[in-house]
Amino acid sequence: MKTERSQQLFSEAQQVIPGGVNSPVRAFRSVGGQPRFIARAKGSRLYDVDGNSYIDYVLSWGPMILGHAPATVIKAIQQAAANGTSYGAPTELEIQLAMMIREALPSMEQVRLVSSGTEAVMSAIRLARAYTKRDGILKFEGCYHGHSDYLLAKAGSGLTTLGIPDCPGVPEDFTKHTLTAPYNNVQALEQLIKRHDRQLACVIVEPIAGNMGVVPPSPEFLQALRKLTDAHGMLLIFDEVISGFRVQYGGAQTLYGITPDLTILGKIIGGGLPVGAYGGAKDIMKMIAPSGPVYQAGTLSGNPLAVTAGIETLKRLKKPGIYEQLEQRSAALADGLGNAAKQAGVPLTQTRVGSMMGAFFTPGPVVDWGSAKKSDTKVYAKFFHQMLDAGFYFAPSQFEAAFMSLAHTPRDIESTIKAAHNAFKSF
Ligand SMILES: *Cc1c(COP(=O)(O)O)cnc(C)c1O
Repeated sequence: MKTERSQQLFSEAQQVIPGGVNSPVRAFRSVGGQPRFIARAKGSRLYDVDGNSYIDYVLSWGPMILGHAPATVIKAIQQAAANGTSYGAPTELEIQLAMMIREALPSMEQVRLVSSGTEAVMSAIRLARAYTKRDGILKFEGCYHGHSDYLLAKAGSGLTTLGIPDCPGVPEDFTKHTLTAPYNNVQALEQLIKRHDRQLACVIVEPIAGNMGVVPPSPEFLQALRKLTDAHGMLLIFDEVISGFRVQYGGAQTLYGITPDLTILGKIIGGGLPVGAYGGAKDIMKMIAPSGPVYQAGTLSGNPLAVTAGIETLKRLKKPGIYEQLEQRSAALADGLGNAAKQAGVPLTQTRVGSMMGAFFTPGPVVDWGSAKKSDTKVYAKFFHQMLDAGFYFAPSQFEAAFMSLAHTPRDIESTIKAAHNAFKSF
């Protein structure tokens, strides 16, 4: 595969952009090698600057659930652009998207639109702290909630330890209110919450973890979260930036029947343009400015192009049979990859909720960050590069999800499975 142009661009990029990329995982650091520069994308495929094409299972890290450049969305964006790209004043489009979100996730009685998932999470945490008049927050090891200071705290040193910042530039003072607990561990959660009774404003969780690979919740885990947060006067925040409109139209909260107090959305609701959202019960959301004292604002919030892309994407997702098709295709891919690994004697632990797919190179089981970390990342890197060179684009990291879109055909999936057979055979 010819990659000269990508290599040349990468060395140019490194002169003017830190590490050559505008978001770290794009740089292929954990799998080695150099990133491919993308020229365009259509349907299930990415096309790079050297003229290579790839069947894409990253899908811009989740948003492109319809596939790339879907005709209806692109047309709507073009029409919206012709009417001006930003007004700094309210539009009817924003009401429409907020109502579509509320209809899909009834727990989001009121919705505030922002421009990224990071921004939405940060704002929701501020709101939870204001509402409960408490400072502490609890997150789970291996869950990602954007790059705001106090959420970069990971665990590492046990249940009762306060989060230690492992990112330079984040003062310890900022993370001293962040507790971390292992995912799927009800006992640890109970102990931690009891120990910090009346100090914690909220628990924030990815109801299906998608940033340590895919780790589904145990049924008891989400139920315990709801019960414990209620009992201790804390808010439960579901970060559904990935799972919202991905595993079902109503997200993980509908799939599992657990109602959070606040929900974060992003990725899919922007249809490939920058959007985030947070929302919840009116009683809580009314504290946000200008109806309340909790300040949060944004020059491009509710941007007409981004909101249009979101509305058109959701319209398509609302049609019957969509999630069944995603489920079928995802199951076919996962089964095929699983069989290929088995035949080659490669230990692979697969996880999947609908079109969120994980595959860990470890005998498993994988239930939290500790067990996910046991995956052999060198073997993953080998798999990644063999697939990439054969024209299949998986995430350049073991600890990310693979996604299916509506544009992936049974033929795409067959050829992916065949390539995986070849890759595993050479291990
Ligand atoms: C991607 C992601 C975010 C951050 O969203 P950005 O738009 O990248 O800021 C937050 N939470 C989860 C669960 C995510 O996957």
